[in-house]
Amino acid sequence: RPRSLSGVQATSDSLHLGNYIGALRQFVAQQDTHEAFFFIANLHAITVDHDPAELRERTLRTAAQFLAAGLDPERATVFVQSQVVAHTQASWVLECVASLGELRRMTQFKDKSARNERVSLGLLSYPVLQAADILLYHPDVVPVGEDQRQHLELTRNLAERFNARFGETFTVPEPHILKATAKIYDLQDPTAKMSKSSPTAAGRIDILDEPKAVAKKIKSAVTDAGTEIAYDPEGKPGVSNLLTIYAALTGSSVEALVSEYEGRMYGHLKVDLAEVVVESLRPVRERTQELLADTAELERILDRGAARAREIADTTVKDVYAAVGFL
Ligand code: ATP
Ligand code: MG
Repeated sequence: RPRSLSGVQATSDSLHLGNYIGALRQFVAQQDTHEAFFFIANLHAITVDHDPAELRERTLRTAAQFLAAGLDPERATVFVQSQVVAHTQASWVLECVASLGELRRMTQFKDKSARNERVSLGLLSYPVLQAADILLYHPDVVPVGEDQRQHLELTRNLAERFNARFGETFTVPEPHILKATAKIYDLQDPTAKMSKSSPTAAGRIDILDEPKAVAKKIKSAVTDAGTEIAYDPEGKPGVSNLLTIYAALTGSSVEALVSEYEGRMYGHLKVDLAEVVVESLRPVRERTQELLADTAELERILDRGAARAREIADTTVKDVYAAVGFL
């Protein structure tokens, strides 16, 4: 089986529809076709100001949502990043392979540093830690959304550079980005990606939102000039985003939806979509709440996941340390 690995940051109480469609659902699909590793990135979550109690809570909540969405700890290794020390160990070595210039060019660094008053060194070096997260496990594929393409490219570059300088050590991974669902847009600003860190929640549908809130957000989604329901991401980004979400959650094609809604109004589409989203998220939300009622069991699952992850990651760190000349 090919190996797959990916992570989600513990930066919010709830994941959003973009994380669910763009990342989580791919994880769930891959646990049957791949040897799969999925982790909760809590080291990454402290690159911007954070509250310790909140981070602890969010780490467990993110893990609960992984399982609630369908990840099975028997079939996939689910773990918390900070519990596998190798990530930090490999990251240091890769920091010495990366250059300041290439990190400054990362668009996510440019965006996030512009939004934050205090810019930590970690915010800059974060993509190197991400490269370590990935390369430690020698994955063949890394399922992510479109926004991570640049970071994946950096990971590949660092792996190649390390291998060229110190000998074949890392597998150069391929990004696995599903074109149709790789970027779900904000409902209030359909030119920006739906994001945990966006300042307002109005354009973001959270997995754990109450059905009423979901319906309200979809109803007030920004639509476009004209009345025709058509798929045209350039000219009609709002409606196209709604169609993308609809298609992703029902499995029907965008074309089929467009012909189904021919001659009908935006309002009709929104009412139906609200129903689709609410019913798709309902089991995930309910299961998350159940899992969070007993966090001891959740923590046991994460302990087992970390132990399995360490077996592989520690071996890679040994190879890396030997390659660079550490005693
Ligand atoms: P933050 O704003 O804190 O960076 P985020 O919403 O980007 O949060 P991440 O934890 O950084 O979430 O990303 C987790 C995964 O979800 C990544 O694979 C990312 O590419 C994917 N993802 C994030 N936002 C979207 C989106 N709007 N559409 C599709 N995939 C997304
Ligand atoms: Mg992100």
